[in-house]
This record gives sequence, C-alpha cells and structure tokens, in this order.
Amino acid sequence: MSMLRSLILAAADSPRMQRFVQRYGFRLGAARFVAGESLDAAAPVLRRLNEQGLLTNTTLLGEGVRDEAETREVVAAYREVFDRIHAEGLRTNVALKLTHLGLSIDEELAQRNVAELVEHAAQRGNFLRMDMEESAHTDATLRIYRRLRERGHENVGTVLQSYLFRSEEDLAALLPLAPNLRLVKGAYLEPAEIAYPHKRDVDAAYVRLLETSLAGGGFTAIATHDEALIEHAISFASERDIPKERFQFQMLYGIASRLQLDLVRRGYDVLVATPYGPEWYRYLMRRLAERPANVLFLVRNLVRG
Ligand SMILES: Cc1cc2nc3c(=O)[nH]c(=O)nc-3n(C[C@H](O)[C@H](O)[C@H](O)COP(=O)(O)OP(=O)(O)OC[C@H]3O[C@@H](n4cnc5c(N)ncnc54)[C@H](O)[C@@H]3O)c2cc1C
Repeated sequence: MSMLRSLILAAADSPRMQRFVQRYGFRLGAARFVAGESLDAAAPVLRRLNEQGLLTNTTLLGEGVRDEAETREVVAAYREVFDRIHAEGLRTNVALKLTHLGLSIDEELAQRNVAELVEHAAQRGNFLRMDMEESAHTDATLRIYRRLRERGHENVGTVLQSYLFRSEEDLAALLPLAPNLRLVKGAYLEPAEIAYPHKRDVDAAYVRLLETSLAGGGFTAIATHDEALIEHAISFASERDIPKERFQFQMLYGIASRLQLDLVRRGYDVLVATPYGPEWYRYLMRRLAERPANVLFLVRNLVRG
C-alpha cells in the first residue's frame, strides 16, 4: 500500500500523466473531490453544504507558482472569494497554499500577499488558514504564521502534520500564542529521515498532537476521516471539560460524507474543505495516494465512458 502511495505521488510530477488526467479526469472522477472549475460553480455547492449544517472552507486550487505577476492574480482572485462569501452570507472561510502566493519565489513576497488577504478577510469578519505543504516549506510557513500573529492578526491559522518528527516541538513552540491549528497526518512524499514511514507511528503521533493541542489554550481543527481518532478526540475533550467551541472536525469534500453529518447531529462543528478551480490535478493525485482504491473508482468511470 505504501509503495502504491509513493508511486502515485511520484506520478503527480509527470507532465504526461498530468496531460492525460487533466484531459479526462474531471469527468472521470475529480468532480467527486472538487466543487467545480469556477467560483460560480463552487458557490452553490458551498451553500448546499451550509444548508446541511456543515461549515465549509474553500480553496482556489493551485500551488508552486514561479511568477510574481501570477501571484498577484491569485491575490485578486482570493479577494473576490472573500467578497463573494460575504455577499452571499456563506459560512465559509478560506484555506490556501503559500506556494500559490509566491513562497517558492521569495518568502517576503508570500508574506506580503498573505498579509493583504488576512487583512481583507478581517474586514469581512472572515478567517484564512495557510495549508502545510512539503517539508521544504515548513519553516517558512511557521515563520509567516508567527509574524502575522505578532502583528496582531487573530484571524489566521496554519497546519501541523503528524508524519513529521518535528511537529511535536513545533506545537510546543506555538502553544504560547494560543494558536489556531489544523492537525493532519500529512499528504506528501517525505523521506524517512524526517517523517514516520509507518502509518501506525503517524497515527500515534497524531494522538499526541491532538491531546497536547486540545489541552493547550488554542483552537484545534481535527482534520481526519479516521473514526478511531475522532472518537478519541471526543472522549478526551469530554474527560477534560474542553468546550466544543475550542475545536472542530474537518474533512474533505467527497469523503466520509455520512460521518460528517453524523457528527453534526451529535452537536459538533464540522467543516468540509471544498476546493474549486481548473488546477485540480495535484489535489486529485494526493486524494488517490491516500486511498489507492480511489484509482479503481476512476478506472470504473473510464470503462463506463
Ligand atoms: C480538512 C483537511 C485539510 C487537510 N490539509 C492538509 C494540509 O494542509 N497538509 C497536508 O499535508 N495534508 C492535509 N490534509 C490531508 C491529510 O494529511 C491526509 O492525507 C488525509 O486526511 C487522509 O488521512 P486521514 O487522516 O483521513 O486518515 P487515514 O488513516 O489515511 O484514513 C482514514 C479513513 O478515511 C478514509 N479516507 C482517507 N482518505 C481518503 C480518500 N482520499 N478517499 C477516500 N477515503 C479516504 C478511508 O476510509 C480511511 O480508512 C488535509 C485533510 C483534511 C481532511
């Protein structure tokens, strides 16, 4: 299974594979995970999820931008997203990747771009989370998070990945800020020198992060579809009298939809990460790598035509 995962993540970098999947993929299966190729297509999906009692976030898919002018277009697109959410009264915030805003070009550029968006979000009473990408970007992402908080921005959060050995120390260093952190297992191909290669170790590290974060003073977004972890979080919070306002569950659009609604019925906040945009290829490949059986789902659609 872990070999298949590595193979799929490696294929994510192949331009030939990208051309093939990009050509047929939306119809074949990307639509299961992506709300549409435009904001116009995504807005009604966000509304429908809200009507079911689910919170949402949205993302204009894209990453690894190498051209400064392009990062300015991304900023403009996200300003529009916040305006649209505000105008339509959606219960939606934004999650984005700093390499979409120029982190692979220059940290200062990414910092300026994201600060502008955090400010724009604040004016509309909204919130922005910076996703965590490959480990090459972890330090810069955490530095930018810290600088935004030091400059008084409260409406911003980031992510820690339990597969990285470093994450427990990162959490300890962030706790004095009462951080808003999303905890995930981690979706990229990382070397065994810095990340747990075995799933059981990733899961055990997740439990440690979860307990430390919940017991700390911040807000914890428990982003997993792992039912055992979700039940563990619920019991831990209840034993420690941690109020429901201090955490929420987060899952991905198209995955574990019944579990999402069950948790809402039990009175918990659930946010569904609901991305959109034409650049869905890498996002789809990560979803396939998490569950190689999803490749079968795509192939079945291909055979059915
Ligand atoms: C809201 C949200 C935000 C995220 N943000 C980031 C981020 O910023 N950085 C990052 O590196 N990773 C991110 N991830 C991805 C994360 O790291 C994992 O790769 C992903 O969540 C799968 O792991 P899991 O916790 O669900 O547990 P797993 O143990 O992998 O899965 C538990 C169960 O969930 C179901 N499941 C999991 N994945 C899929 C799938 N793709 N298709 C169908 N069923 C599935 C299966 O039933 C599986 O048995 C995010 C995930 C979520 C939910």
